[in-house]
Formats: sequence, structure tokens, C-alpha cells
Amino acid sequence: MNTSTYIPESFLADVKSYIPDHLNIEDFVAACQSPLRRSVRVNTLKMSVAAFEQYCQLNDWQIEPVPWCENGFWLTRPEDEEENLPIGNTELHLSGCIYVQEASSMLPPMALADALEHSLCVLDMAAAPGSKTSQLAAMMNNQGVLIANELSSSRVKVLAANMKRMGVANCALSHFNGTIFGDYMFECFDSILLDAPCSGEGTVRKDADALKNWSLQSNIDISDVQKQLIRSAFLALKPGGTLVYSTCTLTPIENQAVCAYLLEQFAGHIEVEPLDELFDGAQRATTEQGYLHVWPQIFDSEGFFIAKFKKVGSVENPEQKIKKGAFPFIAIDAKLQTSFLGYIKKHFGIKSLNGTLMTRDKELWLFPDALEQLQNKIKYARLGIQIGTTHKNGVRLEHELATALGHLAADNTLAMDQQQACDYFQGKDIRLAHPTTKTGEVILTLCGAPVGLGKWQKNKVKNSLPRDLVSNAQLITWV
Ligand code: SAM
Repeated sequence: MNTSTYIPESFLADVKSYIPDHLNIEDFVAACQSPLRRSVRVNTLKMSVAAFEQYCQLNDWQIEPVPWCENGFWLTRPEDEEENLPIGNTELHLSGCIYVQEASSMLPPMALADALEHSLCVLDMAAAPGSKTSQLAAMMNNQGVLIANELSSSRVKVLAANMKRMGVANCALSHFNGTIFGDYMFECFDSILLDAPCSGEGTVRKDADALKNWSLQSNIDISDVQKQLIRSAFLALKPGGTLVYSTCTLTPIENQAVCAYLLEQFAGHIEVEPLDELFDGAQRATTEQGYLHVWPQIFDSEGFFIAKFKKVGSVENPEQKIKKGAFPFIAIDAKLQTSFLGYIKKHFGIKSLNGTLMTRDKELWLFPDALEQLQNKIKYARLGIQIGTTHKNGVRLEHELATALGHLAADNTLAMDQQQACDYFQGKDIRLAHPTTKTGEVILTLCGAPVGLGKWQKNKVKNSLPRDLVSNAQLITWV
């Protein structure tokens, strides 16, 4: 029990006014004061669940499936490992095979699962640090196009780094107030997730000070922002499209009332899609409207709220806007395309690339095909993945070619052992057990997942890890 968890009386008085009859306030306080179980999501872009389960067995990692997400697990590592090696420095984390994600935070993308099966264009309107963006990308199997938007510039950088680590290739990042989407990208998306900024009342188990600045007025203030965002999201949704709204807070002011506002604004064009059958046991958290109101004591998780809506018909939007300014990329020169594709086929055995090759100055980018219909609508902070830089003799490959496309390679790959991987992530060259006659670039893998590039050099592989990703911390081994 964490008795230092700050739970103000005014907050508890407010909670008492809306806690459902089948729950009680004592259990709620006890849950808020008990430590949170750690959960991880297997990134199926890099590792199968079967391979993860095998890894856990071999390494004495105890796992318990999260009932609402087939790739989610509560995880307990051996005590001495837990004390000596942060999870972020383990090989599964460094290779992007897992994402540390709170179990209830896996629910909003799962609520979109059926819609994603036939979605080409998807928007994650408030995306950083990207746990749900990478979950959505994995659910889309890197197909279609996923626009991940974030207002805060420092958080856009974290989002970009996470997408690289997780091998996400179908994503474009933008950096706007989410309120612009309804006007600039009116009725463009098949599915939208709005994981809204909120007062974070459900996060107190992770952050004992989460309620330090709690006030009813701040709930009311932030609900105004949420209403603007949810309205914009609904406008940006195609008729027939699906919107999921979520928060990690408990108050109805930021949850049910925001949904009621949306239903009232677009009456006749919107339907609630009830979530009571999302997974076995979902009924325990379902509200009378069909939303999931996940209290921390129900599933021993953080608090969360999830609502799902269908847009049943087109709506009016006299405020639609068109972006000015030219698109800064051009289609790749045909000769360069032939020589580049020829090189990766001959050297790595990569037979084809899914997407469109574009250039900007010397940069070579791979865009998801589906991006074409959206590429001129707004300015993006980052589009697709940068896979190379051109120079007079051809193309120098970039790190992301390996992390996002390395699984396609059949030749010139090296499966690193733990020592080699430690050296790699610390920016050192990698010693080889036996000299090699191979030359040129090599894709390095860890736990079966591609993690970066190097260059064969007889007794070693020269390290090409970008300097900003080099870490001096203790990595991987803990004994
Ligand atoms: N979906 C994220 C994930 O799963 O990793 C968490 C998102 S967090 C709940 C909300 C995010 O919205 C924050 O990163 C915040 O900076 C961003 N944000 C705040 N106001 C915004 C706005 N007006 N438009 C877009 N994003 C906003």
C-alpha cells in the first residue's frame, strides 16, 4: 500500500457523488493506494506472441494475459533482475518487441479493432508518447495510413522516436492543435482515436502526486478543450466511420458529459456503439449508455473511460479549409529507383517495398501508398520513413530502413548475442566470432527483430547506430 498517495478530500467528495451503486468508495481508495501491476504489449510488427511466451519461459518472466488484448500481458520479472536492470534496458524493449503499456490503456485501440479491419485512413488525434499509435499500427499490420498528431513539440519528438523503435512504417506525424482536423481534413478518416488530454484522475496508482492540482474547475476547463477536440474528430470522420473517445480520468464532466455534447451536436448523424461485449467481463465496467467506465478496483488497473461512436451520415461544415503551400517531396527519379531497388534486392534479398518512394533534396523516403489522398491536406512534421540519403554514387541507407523493413531481408543480416547487442547500443563496433569475407551494409537483429545497421569489416561490424540513440547505461545483462 502506498500511503503517500495524495487523495484530496474535495476529490473524494466529488467521486462519492458519481461512483456507481455497485462500487464503494473504500475499495476505490484502497485500489488507488495499491501499486500498479506492470503490463507490456507485444509488438507484433517485430515479434509473435508465441515467441514472446517462449522468451518469458526461458528467462523466468511470469506473465498473465490481459483479457481484453491478445498481445497484452501483466509481467513479473525475477526480483534480482527487477532490481538490477530497468525494463527499458532489456533486449526485448530495446529491439521494439515490447511496449510497456498500462493494461487499461490497451482498451481504446481494441475498441476500434473491428473498424480497423476495413480502414484505410486512420487518425490518432492526441498521440504522444505513442503507446496507442504503435498499437494501432500493429493492428493495421503497417498497412493503410495512420496520421499521429500531437500538440506538444517536445512530445512529438518522443512520439517519433517510439515509432522508429517499434518499426512503424505506415505513419505520418503532425504537430497541430487537434481542433484543426475537422476543417482541414473534413470527412477524410475511416477510424479516429481521440485519447484526449484530461485531468488524469485514473493515473494515481502510477503517479502518487497525480491529484496534487485537482479541482472541479480544472475538470470543467479541460472538458471545454475535450468538447472542441471531439467535435473536430467527428467532423474529420467519413460517413460510416468510427470514433473512439477515451480518457484516463474518472469524472463524468470529462467523460459522459463530453459524449452527451457530441450526441447533441450531431443528433441524427451519430450512434453509440455499445462496448459491453468488447471482452468477457466488460459488462462489469459498462455504463447505461454503453461506455466503458473502468474504475481501478474493477480490473486492478488504472482508471479509464472509453466510448465508441459511428457516424451514420454526412454532416455540414461551412468552415472547411484548404491548405496553402506546395508539397515539398517529388517522385523518385526512375533511374535512381531502379538502381536502389536493384541494390536492396541483390544485397539483402528484399524483393519489393510496400509504398511510394519520394525524395526531398538528398533524402529518400518511403510513404505509405494510402497517404496520397491525404498528403496535401495539412503540413506534416514527418511523413513515412526516411530510408536513405542520396549521394553521387548511389544511396546511403538510414537506420529506419533496418528498423521498419529489416524483417524483409534474407541476406546480410547478423543475429547479435547479448554482448554484441550491448556493444551495439553503446555505440561500439561489434566483434565477430569468426572473420567474414562479406562486405557492405548489414542489418543487425536482436531477439529476431531488426534493430539497426552496420558495415561488415573482416573481424567486426562497424556500428552505424545514430549518435542520439547511443546509450551508456547498463544494457541487457544484469548478472
Ligand atoms: N495517446 C497517447 C498514448 O497512448 O501514448 C497519450 C495521449 S495523452 C492522454 C494526451 C496528449 O494530448 C498529450 O500528449 C498532450 O500533449 C496532447 N494534447 C493536449 N492538447 C492537445 C490538443 N489541443 N491537440 C492535440 N493534442 C493535444
